[in-house]
Amino acid sequence: MIKVAVNGYGTIGKRVADAVAAQPDMKVIGVSKTKPSHEAFVAKSRGYPLYIADISRKAAFEKVGLPVSGNVEEMLKAADIVVDATPGGVGEKNKPIYQKLGIKAIWQGGEEHEVAGFSFNSDCNYKDAIGKQFARVVSCNTTGLCRVIKAIDDKIGVAKVTAVMVRRGADPHVVKKGPIDAVVLDPTTIPSHHGPDVNTVLPHINIVTMAMIVPTTQMHMHAIQMELKKETTREEALAVMKAHSRIGLVQSSTGIKSTAELKEYVMDLGRPRSDLWENGVFEASVAVVGKNLYFFQAIHQEADVVIENVDAIRAMAGEVTDPEVSIRMTNESLGFVAI
Ligand code: NAD
Repeated sequence: MIKVAVNGYGTIGKRVADAVAAQPDMKVIGVSKTKPSHEAFVAKSRGYPLYIADISRKAAFEKVGLPVSGNVEEMLKAADIVVDATPGGVGEKNKPIYQKLGIKAIWQGGEEHEVAGFSFNSDCNYKDAIGKQFARVVSCNTTGLCRVIKAIDDKIGVAKVTAVMVRRGADPHVVKKGPIDAVVLDPTTIPSHHGPDVNTVLPHINIVTMAMIVPTTQMHMHAIQMELKKETTREEALAVMKAHSRIGLVQSSTGIKSTAELKEYVMDLGRPRSDLWENGVFEASVAVVGKNLYFFQAIHQEADVVIENVDAIRAMAGEVTDPEVSIRMTNESLGFVAI
């Protein structure tokens, strides 16, 4: 069993912990919190030992009935690998302790590529992660881009990608962020950071990205154009997407034409936290004009990176060397088939 610690049990950390707990070859040995928030009570109910960043706050946890197993360093000492899901920029500050203890660590997309020196996506570079001490799972948007670009590039060939990202303003539980009534260019300059971030994983891809933030919490939406290296048909492009276990085709017959309806569908399917781990490509939008492929895809920001973290753990632990095997184990243990 690979012993996994989750440092930062928030939006991403709590999902990673549950996904790890569902794996036959992994065990959650502890999760860390800074405050006795509702998530700490959920960790207790799941049976995850609770550790705290600042041990002087132990009494505040114990006063509300949350037993504390120790501080973060003690948690790290009990683990083979740590998934750092602290807020962007905080993870970098944890690097010295991971180095001191010689523990393997995985950071999230809120950190710079340089923190780990290696950025990960299961489809693109699983084998390069085998045995590595440090990795960074790229952000939700970059993960969604990498998956579909790699699939089309492998089967058809991609000459250039242009992608516009319409980003959610905040996660659903976040009450202090906006925008409430504006479309915000983020950044105002072009390209946005997403294209260079794709290049940390797929350096050969010619890509330009643009991004804006809108008043929604549900999901991101990407409008993607790919200039292909050869002529193709809509059917061939759809077949590539259908064959991918982490690309879900949102079928026209469902009548779904928005992120809200897609999230409702995923909730009705009974997915935990209504998580959509796959890219949600809108089937009706897939179009081929000449050598250009166009489509819309929805990306559930809280979910798509979770399964990538699980594969990164497995690759870095070094037991499973075939990416297909890890991806299948991850998918099957969560019980999902592409929508
Ligand atoms: P979050 O704020 O929801 O959760 C972070 C958790 O870490 C909180 O529980 C916080 O209490 C805890 N924490 C803060 N400082 C800590 C410390 N010093 N030690 C231990 N725990 C600490 O953040 P999130 O949305 O889960 O983001 C985590 C990372 O994942 C970031 O790098 C972010 O960019 C990335 N990410 C987020 C999303 C998303 O949509 N939320 C998607 C992909 C990647």
